[in-house]
Amino acid sequence: MRFGPGGNQPSFYNQGRKSSMEMPAWLRSMGLDAYEYECVRGVKISQSMAETLGAAARNNDISLSIHAPYYINLASEDEATRTRSREHIFKSLRAAHWMGARAVAIHAGTSTVRDRAAALDRIVRELDLIMEEAARDGLDGLLVRPETLGKPSQPGMLEDILQLCRRIKGLQPTIDFGHLHAATQGSLLTKEDFQRVLDRIVAVLGPGVLRDMHIHFSPIEYTGAGEKRHRTTAEPGFGPAFQPLAEALLEAGAGGTVVCESFDNQADDAVVFREIYRRTAKAAG
Ligand SMILES: [Zn+2]
Repeated sequence: MRFGPGGNQPSFYNQGRKSSMEMPAWLRSMGLDAYEYECVRGVKISQSMAETLGAAARNNDISLSIHAPYYINLASEDEATRTRSREHIFKSLRAAHWMGARAVAIHAGTSTVRDRAAALDRIVRELDLIMEEAARDGLDGLLVRPETLGKPSQPGMLEDILQLCRRIKGLQPTIDFGHLHAATQGSLLTKEDFQRVLDRIVAVLGPGVLRDMHIHFSPIEYTGAGEKRHRTTAEPGFGPAFQPLAEALLEAGAGGTVVCESFDNQADDAVVFREIYRRTAKAAG
């Protein structure tokens, strides 16, 4: 598995660096090998900057992904919102193409839904349009990976995301275990808890999905309504723990990328997770 941060933690800048273009070399110096470039407030990167970042990533053996803007809501009943959402995703796909990024994580439906089935139908219709448009433009629409979300009121529970992926051939999920933990009131405690999630993914999408998983992970604070805020491993008392997931991934023979989204400490915590994973792999022989 590859490990890296989502976005740039403050210490990256405090050490005098100014641009994400310097991120791949910095991550490599920390022993990391993935980076999720965050476009959460809009896709603003130019083609030349995206290509420069892509080249830096290749030179440093960093695999790239993109987090698409937060403003996306393909489940909206408002057509203008859905159209704007498609444009955000399309811009993200184009940036991914320029960079050579391998995944675009999206929050597909962010509003509270009354009719979950109708919301999922709308998301599928919009994703179908995106796939068509991407194909016309020579982009790979299947880089889009809808993410499990942190609030049970949103159409982003594990079953929702798996059904989206089942309905659109070749689409794969982003499994955010922090969000999943928060949305289910802290259900991910033991290796068996994580294994149940992996088993469910395999049951719906087949075993091939485990070969190239896109995972988001961070400790998280939640309330009865789900996700409140991302935390770090330096703050005691916030789950989920990475150790049981590492064991479950290793036993399942899973591969792919773990993107750490710990608050303001995402690269350091990615190193923590990577060390846990390596130690666990070694102990398992
Ligand atoms: Zn996300």
